[in-house]
Amino acid sequence: MMEKEGHDFSKYCYACGVKIYERTPVCPNCGALQHDLTPLRRRNRITAAVLALFLGGIGAHKFYLGKVGQGILSLFFFWTLIPGIIGFIEFFIYLAMSEEEFTDRYG
Ligand SMILES: [Zn+2]
Repeated sequence: MMEKEGHDFSKYCYACGVKIYERTPVCPNCGALQHDLTPLRRRNRITAAVLALFLGGIGAHKFYLGKVGQGILSLFFFWTLIPGIIGFIEFFIYLAMSEEEFTDRYG
């Protein structure tokens, strides 16, 4: 097998296990719809950090991370400036986290 260095543009059909092109939506062998197991909507740590820093006061990073309840709470207590302070702290927490840690917790 001669595999080129770098990215391999193939994956295995989850249904029949045959090797297919990674962007193929339907397996040409068995016709199974391919649900991409590597999540496309993986949340980005830097995006969350930037949102926390600039829009933390209205809980933007909470909404971004799917923590809608906390986001609404931030909106509610926006005037106290506390969500903004928490966002500022979380900005540093997100930056200090490793990519794996972040994905584990929020991805
Ligand atoms: Zn298949």
